[in-house]
Amino acid sequence: MEFEKLSELVFNAGIVGAGGAGFPTHKKLAKGVKQIVVNAAECEPLMMVDHHVLAKHFGSVVKALNLLIDVLGAEEAIIGIKGKNMHLLDKRIVDEIKGTKVKIHEIPDIYPAGDEVVLVYETTGKIIPEGSIPLMVGVIVLNAETLYNIYSAVEKGENVTRKYVSIGGDVERDVVVRAPIGITIRELLEDAGYTNLEGKAVINGGPMMGKLVDIDTDVVTKTTKGVLVFPETHSVIQRRRMPMSMTLKRASAACCNCSMCSDVCPRYLLGYNLRVDKTLRAASHGEVQNAENFTQAALCCGCGVCTVIGCQQMLNPQAISMEVKGELARQGYRRENNKAPQEVRKERAGRLVSSDVLIDKLGIRRFVKTTAAREDFDFDPRIVYIPLSQHVGKPATPTVKEGDKVKVSDVIAVTDATALGTTMHASISGTVKKVTDKYVVIER
Ligand code: SF4
Ligand code: SF4
Repeated sequence: MEFEKLSELVFNAGIVGAGGAGFPTHKKLAKGVKQIVVNAAECEPLMMVDHHVLAKHFGSVVKALNLLIDVLGAEEAIIGIKGKNMHLLDKRIVDEIKGTKVKIHEIPDIYPAGDEVVLVYETTGKIIPEGSIPLMVGVIVLNAETLYNIYSAVEKGENVTRKYVSIGGDVERDVVVRAPIGITIRELLEDAGYTNLEGKAVINGGPMMGKLVDIDTDVVTKTTKGVLVFPETHSVIQRRRMPMSMTLKRASAACCNCSMCSDVCPRYLLGYNLRVDKTLRAASHGEVQNAENFTQAALCCGCGVCTVIGCQQMLNPQAISMEVKGELARQGYRRENNKAPQEVRKERAGRLVSSDVLIDKLGIRRFVKTTAAREDFDFDPRIVYIPLSQHVGKPATPTVKEGDKVKVSDVIAVTDATALGTTMHASISGTVKKVTDKYVVIER
């Protein structure tokens, strides 16, 4: 297949990074790339989507990789998977690919193994320069489900209308479901049998990086990876409920300047000039003389290790760093590429955070199940709210109007292919009830 053909196919199918980042995949594909790294790290506790995709669709993921190697001219593809999850892979396929360009690399059971800076280092030994992208070191990183979506588009002509989602946390059983895009979180939970949500709160994503959701208005998107339920009183929820003004006040009053938050930062340990203790102090004390104390927050991935592992004063450097990073993005600030070679700090080996330690620090041990049922629910929502922006870049422009009849997989919104954006499709058949600048609403 020609590169242009593949790129067009991926764009038309509406494929974006399914691991949570949502970067339009056709813009990530690059000819002449050396390595394709597969993010199958299943980084956050309680999440099971990568497990599911690899257990169920390993053969399809390998086919997609072989196609990409061929079209992009890549030297190899490396599947980054934790050693403890190797049993999920079909042994027959593991044997078949030995000696081919598709390789499996067992990564340690650390957090955040799925952060692309950490993952690229663990799988290739390369460090992505500060403020840069993996392509700078000849690598593209694709999530396991994204690869499955590429396979489905190429082999079956399928567009992205469904998303694999882990449901877990303070629930009796964990499941992985494939939900229609645009279904409300409440309907998703209720259809999957979770009706008792009294005194509970729900986050979209893992316990480290997930965001609080309103289950009645938030919906499943192309990047929803997990829907986790926690008691309202749990620290995972309470930390997220705290207003930024209070987070800053507490930091101003209680930070002892010990710098342990920075000392354990995974990106700092890979050589980045990222000292979150300085951002926290500058923001909480109103010290604006040194702009670098703020602009360095652009290097933060929001992993939360500084907060959960580093800070013994129960402060939240992660939230402050991400607040600053968000403001920098709103102001259009871009960190300049630092092309200088960087070295791993020698203390890194002793400061890696094991998933086991993280689970205890988060206080979520009682929510960890040994298995997750992998079930195909027959979701049949009456109504879906399909966001026009489920990805990095420009929102899609609706191509339908109120009253139009649509079938599953019909195009309902598009972006100019040259812009950063993607295509949206109907996830149920029905009538377009409403078109706003944010959503296309379809009713069965
Ligand atoms: S959240 Fe904290 S630990 Fe993670 S990258 Fe940002 S500063 Fe470092
Ligand atoms: S670890 Fe906590 S107390 Fe120490 S410098 Fe960081 S925010 Fe301040």
